[in-house]
Amino acid sequence: MELGMSTTDKQLSRPVPRPGVMAISAYVPGKSHAPGVEKVFKLSSNETPLGASPAAIAAFQSAGTHLQDYPDGASTALREAIGKAFGIDPARIICGAGSDEILNLVAHTFVGAGDEVVFSVHGFLVYKIATLAAGGTPVAVPETDDLVADVDALIAAVTPRTRVVFLANPNNPTGTYLPFAEVRRLHAALPPNVLLVLDAAYSEYVRKNDYENGLELALTADNVLMARTFSKIHGLAALRIGWAVASAAIIDALNRVRGPFNMNAPAIAAGAAAILDTAHVDRSVAHNEQWLPWLAGEFTALGLKVTPSVGNFLLIHFPATPGRTAKEADAFLTKRGIILRSVASYGLPDALRMTVGTEEANRLTVKAITDFLAGAAQ
Ligand SMILES: *Cc1c(COP(=O)(O)O)cnc(C)c1O
Repeated sequence: MELGMSTTDKQLSRPVPRPGVMAISAYVPGKSHAPGVEKVFKLSSNETPLGASPAAIAAFQSAGTHLQDYPDGASTALREAIGKAFGIDPARIICGAGSDEILNLVAHTFVGAGDEVVFSVHGFLVYKIATLAAGGTPVAVPETDDLVADVDALIAAVTPRTRVVFLANPNNPTGTYLPFAEVRRLHAALPPNVLLVLDAAYSEYVRKNDYENGLELALTADNVLMARTFSKIHGLAALRIGWAVASAAIIDALNRVRGPFNMNAPAIAAGAAAILDTAHVDRSVAHNEQWLPWLAGEFTALGLKVTPSVGNFLLIHFPATPGRTAKEADAFLTKRGIILRSVASYGLPDALRMTVGTEEANRLTVKAITDFLAGAAQ
């Protein structure tokens, strides 16, 4: 691996990526195929079982009749719809091709060689990838034994070289969350030049009195950005729509770095329609409220440890006993067409992450794991 830019490298007969790039382990998305199985239940990417809002689908289709036109480079209709829904000045909003683009924009705008970026060890994988791609140094901080972000450890990891702290709240893949008093304590301990990124991709699902998504803090503090996505509860993952709110100065800087037409026209139209369809969001929340606790209860009754989740997914821990491991469970379930997410790449080789699915998918998964633990052949 040639990481440096010495004279020797320059004499190589091929282009050499910048330092850090070859240290990236490319993101591997959740599987979507189960070879030889007719009906597949994809529970590996935290997609909603309720699909997209019919209003969003109609807006998407109507945008399909103008594909020759460039989109509005400022995503005005979408920022205005989000602004209306949340009571935010649209000038304080930036849209991105998924919140992945927002997270990468943050890194490319605020992080360079020698700069450090702090996040929890089981935090969303994109934080590490975006940091390395920007030439920065990722600093992964241990969590508590319950897989919750450890505010004291995060604070202790901040140095004069720290530029950004990424916090997913709730976190993926653990499903755990920090009460907002803890987020405020973290923010209060950060130097004013360190940007706190609150990634609230699953915030709509959370039903806890001590939780806040970070909107208020992002609107009032000069060093906080809240990132959101249309991929999860709005069911628009295919269109790649994310957004963020932060201080005018942060939004201005991000707008200079982003591509001039980073959002496509069908995405702008569908996103604007989706955010106004609050009944659809309410249905998704109600579905999750019903099935998340049911699934957790069933798996616990089977003797498996389940990390308490406030998202639309669950982290299920398997024993190390041969015949009962997460890896073997994954293979067993895949043969039945049930696809969960291996989280070995997150450093959790003994667990699988399951997205809350349709009633049919949820019941079949519990049945399959019951059979697996009972030692069924298939
Ligand atoms: C799914 C997810 C995102 C991003 O989704 P996009 O599809 O890029 O908008 C961001 N953060 C977390 C924690 C996620 O799980």
